Amino acid sequence: MLTRKDFLKRTSFTALGSLFLPVIACNNNSKEKKVVPLAKGSASPLVIATWKNLKATEAAMHVIKNNGSALDAVEAGAKVPEADPEDMSVGYGGRPDRDGFVTLDACIMDENGNTGSVTFLQHIIHPISVARLVMEKTPHVMLSGDGALQFALGNGFNTENLLTDKAKAEWEEWVKENKYTPVVNEHNHDTIGILAIDNKQNISGACSTSGWAYKMHGRVGDSPIPGAGMYVDNEVGGACATGTGELVVKICGSFLVVELMRKGATPQEAVEEAVHRIVKKNHIKDEQVGFLAVNKNGEHGAYALRENFSYTYYTDKGNSVFDASFELKKV
Ligand code: ASP
Repeated sequence: MLTRKDFLKRTSFTALGSLFLPVIACNNNSKEKKVVPLAKGSASPLVIATWKNLKATEAAMHVIKNNGSALDAVEAGAKVPEADPEDMSVGYGGRPDRDGFVTLDACIMDENGNTGSVTFLQHIIHPISVARLVMEKTPHVMLSGDGALQFALGNGFNTENLLTDKAKAEWEEWVKENKYTPVVNEHNHDTIGILAIDNKQNISGACSTSGWAYKMHGRVGDSPIPGAGMYVDNEVGGACATGTGELVVKICGSFLVVELMRKGATPQEAVEEAVHRIVKKNHIKDEQVGFLAVNKNGEHGAYALRENFSYTYYTDKGNSVFDASFELKKV
């Protein structure tokens, strides 16, 4: 696996990108900071996704290469793990809640700031597509539970059994061990957060998950909440999160990352600041939580509190998985 450092060494990409970095101009007398807007239109198409999601970034880039929109790209990308029974944190094959129900959360956001979301949705294999329809066909942003299901059924989606034999067997073992009290399932977070920049330099994002394994029935995490699990502002950039959603929600994580970039932070500085804020506010040292970000210039950042955080990044240089752990700093 390439580390981010290896990748950056091999390309002049960041050097180019830095020509367009937002500049914080200081007036020496007043020490007032003025933010000069990011240059527009300097990024090549790219797709970035949490974890080892090579097939998802491939599907998204395929859309962009065929001149599709970033919005179509992120939906196509998120649908890949949603349909994959081996991905046990997203869609079909996702681990159930503590009562044995697979309940899904997803949100999507386009370059115009439109967003749609579903929470606590059962029986539908592609929550991201339902979220998109909420955005496009309703006056609302978010539909939940039975209401979201009814909406999906009314729009041609079919119900399916999303609990695979493998996930059911694991859950039954967990119940047998009498671990009914939810605890953080540290190795089970594989939510897909995906951001794309298309040929028109537009940015969109999507996020989809079955959430925290063996969560309480009815629990909703950060992933379907625009501004928490994912956020895009086409003037600035986008961000998405993975890990313990409760921590992300409490700082409006993805919104925070985008706003920090708006004020002049690089994507890397912004994701580090968001994680550090979580650490500080919750007095924790060790928890799985991380962010990805891209800015309008196509620069990106990745940072997690724990070392096993990987992400997939597809540009004109290729499609690769990176390990963000070298960036881990103890705070
Ligand atoms: N963030 C997701 C949630 O809390 C879980 C994950 O990223 O694995 O629902």
